[in-house]
Amino acid sequence: MNNSSILVVNAGSSSLKFSVFRLDSTESVTLAARGQIDGIGTHPRLQVKDAAGSTLVKRDCTTSEAGAMKQAIVLTGSWLRQHFQKEQLLAVGHRVVHGGADFFQPVLVDANVLAALEQLVPLAPLHQPHNLSVIQAMREMQPQVPQVACFDTAFHRSHSQLADLYALPWEYYTAGVRRYGFHGLSYEYIAATLPEIAPELAQGRVVVAHLGSGASLCALRGGKSVDSTMGFSPLDGVPMGTRPGALDPGVLLHLVSQQGVSAAELEKLLYNKSGLLGLSGISNDMRVLLDSSEPRARLAVDYFVHHVVKQIGALAAVLGGVDGLVFTAGIGEHSAAIRARIMQGCAWLGVAVDADANQRGGPRVSAADSAVSAWVIPTNEELMIARHTLALVAASARG
Ligand code: ADP
Repeated sequence: MNNSSILVVNAGSSSLKFSVFRLDSTESVTLAARGQIDGIGTHPRLQVKDAAGSTLVKRDCTTSEAGAMKQAIVLTGSWLRQHFQKEQLLAVGHRVVHGGADFFQPVLVDANVLAALEQLVPLAPLHQPHNLSVIQAMREMQPQVPQVACFDTAFHRSHSQLADLYALPWEYYTAGVRRYGFHGLSYEYIAATLPEIAPELAQGRVVVAHLGSGASLCALRGGKSVDSTMGFSPLDGVPMGTRPGALDPGVLLHLVSQQGVSAAELEKLLYNKSGLLGLSGISNDMRVLLDSSEPRARLAVDYFVHHVVKQIGALAAVLGGVDGLVFTAGIGEHSAAIRARIMQGCAWLGVAVDADANQRGGPRVSAADSAVSAWVIPTNEELMIARHTLALVAASARG
């Protein structure tokens, strides 16, 4: 497997993010480059950086180069072939948002798997079709290259049925209305990293706060997910950049029946107009809100902190106490101010902040005598996908 690489792909509605990992040995991979084409369909733009963050290419593309997702894949492929001429593409790992109730681990994609994943499109109509269309296109273009699907939901399939249920009539559960949970690749990476960074927590009760533009929290016991704040969709739980987090379903009934809001308008409201953006009326970006003196910007930040603290309490109750707290993703990794406020809100649980360590960004951000330790661990979903992809390809080569 010398000079081999693994391509990791994350396809959105108008963007294609990709990372190239080189194989160091039969068991480990190292990032070589990371890039994306965004603005697909409008103003496509290709940008790729090497592992150290230096720009390898940054340019606008014509619409004939990347006017649609399929063209963007071809463009990505030809750029990669030019820049990684000596490397052989061993496999492609895809981030797939939904694995439903049955996919509890990554899987090599064949026609049967693809058909099963198509069946899940109604569960994630905004994301799943893009993920699958890229898998399909790559299978057509490079049929000899194995494709691996890694799911955002899979890590949460260790939940008990109790944590998977809604209190609806039973037929809804059997028809797939369940609490699937998301950000699973991020939580899996954190669980896999804990033994190195905080070995005393690896077998313990840990709440992980993935606070990015999408945000959720996960309760880990012994490295396994036991509960999460996201449910049937990535709308539930804590407030996010443009999503409201948990909302009384009565509000939706009211909007539909009293205000004539359509399903399409609801979708836009819930995915794109709410959360920090909706509350502040200014921005979905936490940095902008923290820099603003506008009262509604402050209120939006207060609301975010309040609900994250509340959910940490809820997950601590589920775990029967908590040994550690981990912050990750954009806000969790980079905002000392938000971490400090969340940790202060968790003082009752036994979290004591180390202000200097928190300013430095950790990894440990709690005081030496804190009953519950707190940590910053940068997540790496792409690396998780690359590792899974290598493991599956190696296992299938062994037969
Ligand atoms: P995604 O969910 O899109 O992967 P990220 O995990 O990259 O998002 O998080 C992006 C968000 O992180 C941004 O919208 C921004 O609000 C927040 N963020 C990044 N850096 C900082 C910072 N230094 N302070 C506060 N918030 C930050």
